[in-house]
Amino acid sequence: MLTFQPVSAHPAGNCHLLCAGEDAVLIDASLSFCGEQTALQVARALGNRRLRAILLSHSHYDHTTGLWWLHRAFPDVPVLAHPAAIHNLSRPGALSAMHALCRNAALRYTGQTGPDFPSDSFACCIPCTDGQTIPFGQGEARILFTPGHTRDSLSVDFPDEGVLWLCETLGFWDGREGSAIQPCFLSGYQAALDSLDRMTALLPRRLILTHSRMLDEAGSAVFLPRSRQVAEQCAERILDWYDRGMTLMEMLRCYEAAYRDEDCADLQPIEAFRINAEATIRVTLRELRQTEL
Ligand SMILES: [Zn+2]
Repeated sequence: MLTFQPVSAHPAGNCHLLCAGEDAVLIDASLSFCGEQTALQVARALGNRRLRAILLSHSHYDHTTGLWWLHRAFPDVPVLAHPAAIHNLSRPGALSAMHALCRNAALRYTGQTGPDFPSDSFACCIPCTDGQTIPFGQGEARILFTPGHTRDSLSVDFPDEGVLWLCETLGFWDGREGSAIQPCFLSGYQAALDSLDRMTALLPRRLILTHSRMLDEAGSAVFLPRSRQVAEQCAERILDWYDRGMTLMEMLRCYEAAYRDEDCADLQPIEAFRINAEATIRVTLRELRQTEL
């Protein structure tokens, strides 16, 4: 049976340990400021199991910048990522934006600016392919490219267990009853809808959500259709604001009023929320109004 444990030392970073029998895989590497503690938590939760792979679900800083500490703790474990993520994680511009976001998150959550991640942290990453499998328990883990949140997003299917681990393309939900699913398509609206349809067609019995938890069967059955509605409603709202003549600043204010949940401040600093909101507005208008803001 597959078991799931969130092992990031801070909720702002994502790091999930999935185990079956003697095997384990780690999805995402959390944040630099808590990288060392996260590596300790992983080692503790792993026990005597064999860590088969570390997978990066996409190149965002809250999923990747703790990798240096994990790779130091488990130097023989392959680290797999989308080829576009590896390319992104080698670009000086992307790395300097990630250093700034890491400093901001560290300051907000710990009162200090570090520790920072070394810029060669991602030299260990190996490009993976869509559909690639990794031996896991009695069966396998299967990497599925699910673009939409970013171009380099991936999810992980455990077909023998009926379990599907979902990245942010498929929607973000913090797991609190009564809180809403957040739209998360930053690189492609149609790509996100296509990824939602592809994951729905797999008929997973249970879902594990990034930054969140494993849903029960009833919750899993309704999550993907709801998330698709949330994405469509978000795009409709953006088109409505645009068609009413709003500027980007005005649309950003409306977006924040509609989607910023202050109870989620522990999961995402406001600066990161605003970067994502602007990307969502821009990509929606690019695809559905053929307009560059
Ligand atoms: Zn992300």
